[in-house]
Amino acid sequence: MLINSVQNRHVAHAQLFLGPEGSANLALALAYATYLNCENQQPTDACGACASCVKINKLIHPDVNFVMPVTTTKSVAKDALSPKFLTEWREFVLANPYQTLNDWMGYIGAENKQGNISKDESRQLVKFASLKAFEATFKIILIWLPELMHPAAANALLKLLEEPPVNTIFLLVANAPEKLLATILSRTQMVKVRAFTDEEVIRYLTEKNLTSPAGAQQITLLAEGNLQAAVQLSAEMTNDYFDFFVKWMRHCYANKFGEVVELSEDFQKMGRENQKNFLHYALSSLRKVLLYGIDESLVAYIPPAEVDFVGKFSRIVRETNGPYLTEELNQAHYHIERNANPKMVFIDSSIQIARYLKLQN
Ligand SMILES: [Zn+2]
Repeated sequence: MLINSVQNRHVAHAQLFLGPEGSANLALALAYATYLNCENQQPTDACGACASCVKINKLIHPDVNFVMPVTTTKSVAKDALSPKFLTEWREFVLANPYQTLNDWMGYIGAENKQGNISKDESRQLVKFASLKAFEATFKIILIWLPELMHPAAANALLKLLEEPPVNTIFLLVANAPEKLLATILSRTQMVKVRAFTDEEVIRYLTEKNLTSPAGAQQITLLAEGNLQAAVQLSAEMTNDYFDFFVKWMRHCYANKFGEVVELSEDFQKMGRENQKNFLHYALSSLRKVLLYGIDESLVAYIPPAEVDFVGKFSRIVRETNGPYLTEELNQAHYHIERNANPKMVFIDSSIQIARYLKLQN
């Protein structure tokens, strides 16, 4: 659709690339900006080799302007505006264009601060819009997360959208359209970017060698199409979640509390983020087992290594005890989040789980 719009010369001057966090909305907007100005457009992509492509691919094209949420940091103590963060922005996007606002705030050294597109950024916008294109066919103004615009900046943008400067294309890359002015929304053409599929997430993690194939399967269950979350989960993952979960459930079912205590040591060593991820994984697995017990066709996919366990466990986890087990794991997650002692939480949950596993029929 985007390529056709260029080939048919029906390029809307304002487009909203709307996608959830960890989707390809920014990557797609950048690819589109590259295609728009490519000197040797191919039927399915930009050439990647012309002067324009080379510059945009390094994010140094003088006609491609960026506006993104920022805040004061150690190195930028006042007048925090997008242009002051351009170097960081280039590194950040080139490293991985699927990152989130949180990642960005961390990258510029502003953890725990709220980033925004301040009212002073409106001057910047007007300046970008008034400049003549240096060398490109289309001047691009890419606004990352326009939902974080100060009302004054949003109004400046609205004015520009109402009377668009010639050959200027506004690309808005957003996660939450409900936070945008309706008047801005109505002036943009929407490009919906879906979340990644499980297959895509697995392929990405495997190709980038971020985790084992089994790990990729387990992470996919948690990431829900958010590629950036998947990358983070693979960095935090120290154990094979499936193996650990199976061991845990077997020991609980067999009342082997000596083994449970040993396992609690491993759990302790995981570290808090990893512990939470694992419990989240355990919850998702439990849900899968429950569904499988009700009707196998409700579970879209089970990795081959897990089929045997899921089949057997689905005869133990039923509608009768499933809700109790779910609640127990939720509680464990809650306590870990509130900094409870992980070993105690694990052992305590194990005792309850052992009891609930026998509550059949
Ligand atoms: Zn090109």
